[in-house]
Amino acid sequence: MSHSLFTEASQRFNKALQYVDLSQDAIARLTYPKASLSVSIPVRMDDGTLNVYQGYRVRYDDTRGPTKGGVRFHPHVSLDEVQSLAFWMTFKCAALGLPFGGAKGGITVNPKQLSSSELERLSRGYVNAIADFIGPDVDILAPDVYTNAIIMGWMMEQYSIIRRKSVPSVVTGKPVVMGGSLGRNTATAMGAFYVMNHVLALQGRVPHKTSLAVQGFGNAGAVLAELASKAGYKVVAVSDSKGAIYAAQGLDIPSIRQFKESSRDLKAVYCKGTVCDVVEHDVITNAELLELDVDVLAPAALENQITVENADRIQARYIFELANGPTTPEADDILDEKGIQVFPDILVNAGGVTVSYFEWVQNRGGFYWTLQDVNQRLHDKMVEETNQILAIAHDSAVSHRTAAYIHALTRLGKAFNAQGLSVEY
Ligand code: GLU
Repeated sequence: MSHSLFTEASQRFNKALQYVDLSQDAIARLTYPKASLSVSIPVRMDDGTLNVYQGYRVRYDDTRGPTKGGVRFHPHVSLDEVQSLAFWMTFKCAALGLPFGGAKGGITVNPKQLSSSELERLSRGYVNAIADFIGPDVDILAPDVYTNAIIMGWMMEQYSIIRRKSVPSVVTGKPVVMGGSLGRNTATAMGAFYVMNHVLALQGRVPHKTSLAVQGFGNAGAVLAELASKAGYKVVAVSDSKGAIYAAQGLDIPSIRQFKESSRDLKAVYCKGTVCDVVEHDVITNAELLELDVDVLAPAALENQITVENADRIQARYIFELANGPTTPEADDILDEKGIQVFPDILVNAGGVTVSYFEWVQNRGGFYWTLQDVNQRLHDKMVEETNQILAIAHDSAVSHRTAAYIHALTRLGKAFNAQGLSVEY
């Protein structure tokens, strides 16, 4: 059988099923996505030629509410990947108790090769192609890998043009001036930070004696590195797609972020410019970063980073997954045997969709919250669900990942049962 991310994603679900009394109906319903859409998006390029891009949107399950999930722009986007990510979103929303099902979208494109106007035409073209498949009570978009608030603004506005009215709640993660929530931009990292800080404090760890390596320096990884370093953690390594830097005594994250923002490239800090004057560091590879002897490893890049190939060499005591699906199921077993505590994506990176939910609520109520309100509610939600997952892991003697799936499946199972026998869609 060919390698499929979705087959791997389903393994987590099957493992958790042993511990949850889920009806056969519910299991059958969760086996396939509710609906998948493949579209082609013609885009007039700046030089007058026409490029056609492949796009997808998968709505996995809407038993607990309208489906919710990001849109990814990446050269490796495929239907298999989008379906797996939509499946994960279903469990993420259930694990956090958000009133949403799971969805995901994507376009197979390298957005770095497009001009801003080409990117705008592509984003609007995507919404034109999927407009009948989405809606504020049906399926709500958000940012994901290589998409951001500006792109979400274009998508929301395009949907509003099609509907001939303003529909802010069809997309979350918009610019604040278009109805975006304060704190959405930092929410994924902030949520992860709350989970990490809470878990480590429960285990008696203090920040200044805890070293941290972060793989990925995008919206999740860079913000987590900065939050952690401000809280006193020793952030010893960070990386982007081009490479990694390491300093045993800790890196100056705010300066590195500034460099990265101005140059768009971590390479700019490879001992050019003043960061090197602030702290000495070594240049290492992304693979080496994952295998560093640190207390905490936070993969915040793409899927399948910790695999059967390198799991045995991972030395971190804790892993907090900011990326979706960074660890394969086989690697999970190896990490488990080594006694490494893995806190799973569907909990750790759920801060993003949690504040997306807050944004959707604010759009529908037309009443906007302060940043302090947003962060306080995010904190309370993350800590509450983390505590429940820790309790399940303890009581059922399972990994935190399986506990998070049990938690999600229990909520999903109750929703399936409450719906009764209906199979009319
Ligand atoms: N793309 C993010 C995720 O994977 C956020 C989704 C959302 O806000 O709807 O969780």
